[in-house]
Amino acid sequence: GSTIGILGGGQLGRMMVLQGSPLGYQFITLDPATNAPCGQVSQQIVGRYDDPQAAEMLASQADVITYEFENVDADVAALLEQKSYVPQGSQLLYTTQHRLREKRAIEAAGATVAPYMEVRSAAETLEAVQQFGTPCVLKTATGGYDGKGQFVIRSEEQAGQAYDELSVAGTELVVEQFIHFQCELSVIAARSSNGEIKTFPVAENIHIDNILHLSIVPARVAEEVQRRAEQMAADIAESMDAVGLLAVELFCTEDGQLYVNELAPRPHNSGHYTIEACETSQFEQHVRAICGLPLGSTALRSPVVMVNILGEHIPAITEKMVQVDLSATALHVNPKYHLYGKEEAKHKRKMGHINVLCHNIEDALAWIDQTNIWRHE
Ligand code: ATP
Ligand code: MG
Ligand code: MG
Repeated sequence: GSTIGILGGGQLGRMMVLQGSPLGYQFITLDPATNAPCGQVSQQIVGRYDDPQAAEMLASQADVITYEFENVDADVAALLEQKSYVPQGSQLLYTTQHRLREKRAIEAAGATVAPYMEVRSAAETLEAVQQFGTPCVLKTATGGYDGKGQFVIRSEEQAGQAYDELSVAGTELVVEQFIHFQCELSVIAARSSNGEIKTFPVAENIHIDNILHLSIVPARVAEEVQRRAEQMAADIAESMDAVGLLAVELFCTEDGQLYVNELAPRPHNSGHYTIEACETSQFEQHVRAICGLPLGSTALRSPVVMVNILGEHIPAITEKMVQVDLSATALHVNPKYHLYGKEEAKHKRKMGHINVLCHNIEDALAWIDQTNIWRHE
């Protein structure tokens, strides 16, 4: 079989390896950490992603190259594109690495984003705040994740402070109007190198402190809204000539308007539910898409709630596993554990997730609540 090289060796890569291996592919990953989640399930080159020599070593041992995080150095991606087969190309990375380029691409696909403005000074930040009203959000154009690189501006007086705090990052900055959403949704689209497109069922996402806590599927919004969200994701993938997965994060307002928040050209945390709940997982679909295989069915097999396990949840999970499994049986829910093999259970670190398969979303939510593991404050 062919060998797939993955830039990055975290949990997304690990699940790509676990879900892609049954198709007959071998995997080799590049990650600087000697104890990376992928190292336990695939061959690994220990090296930095921005080290051309390490990247070339990966390329020399792989037939197809992909990535599991979007901050791969653009120069390295371009180098790999010359030396080997990178079906996703470097353009998709280049666009999604930068919020302003990304927003323009989303608009070019005919989708709506929150009104935004690039700002280059404290004075321009204040102008944007005056135009959009408060609250609004100042974001760094590059490098942000889990809400890092963001400042929610709650009054005009905070504009200067927000600019001062985020401008030290040295990247472009963008102010966005605050969308008073009813809920957050996401759709993962897969587009194959031969142009076939499929979307996974819409997930409803609940964040705590800007980190995904729950994905609920089916999302609790009208069918019509779900169809529109799926179409929007497919249109964006098509318009961007994406290959592989493209995750689309959305805000949904009470009247059913959809705004695209951001994109990720890779497997997405809100798509982990697909492992047991869909006929094909997002990880298998990604491998199919980049290898030019026919895409698998994305049909939902069962309602599901995915709950993330962060570092602070590990002691309670370990301690209560038996009791918690018994209460799941009583509620007729089926929790499927996915631990990523990370050694250090640091606060807020993504250590694993549980896909709670269920007959009713309410049962899964009741179980999550009953376990007392995710109770906060
Ligand atoms: P990720 O870890 O998903 O990459 P990120 O750091 O790139 O996160 P965003 O997804 O842009 O950040 O924003 C994080 C969260 O902040 C969103 O999921 C949403 O809850 C809230 N948020 C961001 N922008 C807005 C906005 N314009 N209006 C309302 N809420 C927002
Ligand atoms: Mg992001
Ligand atoms: Mg996000």
